[in-house]
Amino acid sequence: MVILKTVPEIAKMRAAGRISQRALQLAGKAVEPGVSTYELDTLIRQYIEKQGATPSFLGYGGFPASACISVNHVVIHGIPSKAQILQNGDIVSIDVGACLEGYHGDNAWTFACGDVSKEAQALMDATREALFEGIAQAVAGNRIGDIGHAVQQYAEARSYSVVRDFVGHGVGAKLHEDPSVPNYGIPGHGLRLRPGMVIAIEPMINQGTPRVRVLKDKWTTVTADGLLSAHFEHTIAITSNGPVILTSPD
Ligand code: MG
Repeated sequence: MVILKTVPEIAKMRAAGRISQRALQLAGKAVEPGVSTYELDTLIRQYIEKQGATPSFLGYGGFPASACISVNHVVIHGIPSKAQILQNGDIVSIDVGACLEGYHGDNAWTFACGDVSKEAQALMDATREALFEGIAQAVAGNRIGDIGHAVQQYAEARSYSVVRDFVGHGVGAKLHEDPSVPNYGIPGHGLRLRPGMVIAIEPMINQGTPRVRVLKDKWTTVTADGLLSAHFEHTIAITSNGPVILTSPD
């Protein structure tokens, strides 16, 4: 069931979203060769807690950290670790949620570690741009399929593939709510978007096959062919004045 949010609820979600975005940016600035993913996770947890919020992911379904940090061929749900030291040329996807006064904000970004290859940079650029193509369709009266189609078309036109096993989602008092927001779709199909809906749009775009597999730790999700993947996400409110990015820094 899709839960519509009131204007005051959306204002609370904006505050949660701002904290999650600032935590993400803080971690992004710290991405450099020699840093462990555990250190990034610690920065994120400390920042969120200092704001009086809680990291949405910590303990979620048993997840052991405050952020998912997914390097190179890891698509999503990478578990931060002291043993994982970032190398020059890595691409680092960081996914962060913060919960403030009972409402969540959820966002992700893929950062370059040092000097990345032209191919890696192009994948990151296309995934970020695909996210904004999707956001532009998050307009009352459109349908869920319009968002997915925009993302899919943008990525596939550049010979990338769209992960299908994981999708975006509603956000609210729960981190994951209805509806599902796939990064693929048919224009004019699916649930109609209404003011008060809050959704996370989060393209996961692969260099090679769209297929992924989950490792034995039951979290870490990797590309089936070992090629790179990028992930960008914002939490968006659908309003009568168009899409509003709740996970923006100011
Ligand atoms: Mg999400």
